[in-house]
Amino acid sequence: MTKVLFAAAEAAPFYKTGGLGDVSLALPRALRAAKTTIRVVIPYYEALFPEKYRDQVKDLLHFTVQVGDKAQYCGIKTLELDGLTYYLIDNQEYFGREDLYGYWDDGERFAFFQMAICEMLERVDYIPDVLHLNDWHTAFIPVLLKEKYYWIKAYRHIKTVLTIHNMQFQGIYDPIILDSLFKIGWQTFNEEGIAFYGQVNFLKAGINFADAVNTVSPTYAQEIQTPQFGERLDGVLRANQGKLSGIMNGIDMKLYDPATDAALTATYTAKDLAPKALDKAALQTAVGLPEADVPVLGVVSRLTTQKGMDLLLDALDDFLKAQPAQVVILGTGDPALEHAFEIYQLAYPDQVAAQIKFDVKLAQQIYAGSDIFLMPSAFEPSGLSQMMAMRYGTLPLVHLVGGLKDTVVPYNEYTGAGTGFGFDDYTPTVLRKIMTMAVNLYAQDPAAWRQLQQQAMLPDFGWAKSAKKYQQVYQTIMS
Ligand code: ADP
Repeated sequence: MTKVLFAAAEAAPFYKTGGLGDVSLALPRALRAAKTTIRVVIPYYEALFPEKYRDQVKDLLHFTVQVGDKAQYCGIKTLELDGLTYYLIDNQEYFGREDLYGYWDDGERFAFFQMAICEMLERVDYIPDVLHLNDWHTAFIPVLLKEKYYWIKAYRHIKTVLTIHNMQFQGIYDPIILDSLFKIGWQTFNEEGIAFYGQVNFLKAGINFADAVNTVSPTYAQEIQTPQFGERLDGVLRANQGKLSGIMNGIDMKLYDPATDAALTATYTAKDLAPKALDKAALQTAVGLPEADVPVLGVVSRLTTQKGMDLLLDALDDFLKAQPAQVVILGTGDPALEHAFEIYQLAYPDQVAAQIKFDVKLAQQIYAGSDIFLMPSAFEPSGLSQMMAMRYGTLPLVHLVGGLKDTVVPYNEYTGAGTGFGFDDYTPTVLRKIMTMAVNLYAQDPAAWRQLQQQAMLPDFGWAKSAKKYQQVYQTIMS
């Protein structure tokens, strides 16, 4: 049986800042359900660790990791949750912080994390066949195995898979770290290896040295091989085409189920959608909008340009002037965008609610209580929110890129087919046009709308199919 260690910088239900955290919870569970032997390793961010799970954390062992000239304490804690074993890597100096990322020494923090993982394997006596790495925080491990830990015989059979959740974050540092953090030579510091415009690039290192690379949707796997989406690594990805694939993310179909979701005012099913109206009214009340019979367009998102929030801002003014519709925005992110949405709320108090915070319960209420879910992302590796929205019979309106293109079937007015709305040209005019088309359909053709809702609620976005594809990747690199 294949033995896997899944390594990531975040995992729900302990800590998540986005899709990576969701995947790090759900994919190991799905793989375990499909009979893969799998454990998970993440950092132990003590200040952020939920109270609820604290009692279950046990100290396993500790040792020192040499980070350049510093001998650093490395504690290995462990916890069992729903049948999965987690290893938590503890070092107060690196992980005892208020946030996960965004510090001046992130390079050193995740250099430590990656060396700690390598040095932990033989100590905890869990040497995997496959090390499953995620994003730049763990992408340098294949280089470490080759250049630093090559003398550990037991590690020689270890294969590596790198999953890229977002090309935008790469981990780029001065090459001095090869000596000052990793204590390895310069053999790999070249264009075919880890060098990137004179710097060290962790993600590039993973792409070149992992045995298999995948990203989180088939379309994004194609897109990142082009200059438009490749974030300056498109050439590297094209050169590694043979080991690159796209595997769609899933969602937890049990957790996100309008028939049982405890966060909702009223539960409902595809057959009986009537109670959804009560969730809409509850949402309007909760965010301070009038309980009017107008279409509600929801947003649950990081407020960034990646998510197309600037495009939405540009389209919103004309849209709100022309349409009796309401827009509910939940999110945090770029302060300028946060502020702009707050201004909209002041200008259109009966039409716009801007909730600038992270609130999982309100997110569920928006998925259930909205009629349309807006996701005009400039690029989208996978996207989870559009699948959640569809699950709740809320029609996604998306830019047809990446995972959005792979999961949303745009409405066809001639056949009635579709599970949402989509657009190609990335301009505010086109976005406004498609928003207008959607709200008109909502107002004028309730039967067509209901049919679209039912079609959207039908697909199985569960993880089982994707877990099988990951197992195939493991098989391929092991044989
Ligand atoms: P990304 O990982 O790029 O941010 P995804 O669509 O893949 O985008 O995943 C976002 C996840 O984070 C979804 O589960 C979404 O519901 C959640 N989320 C984003 N912003 C918020 C927020 N402000 N409050 C609650 N949940 C949020």
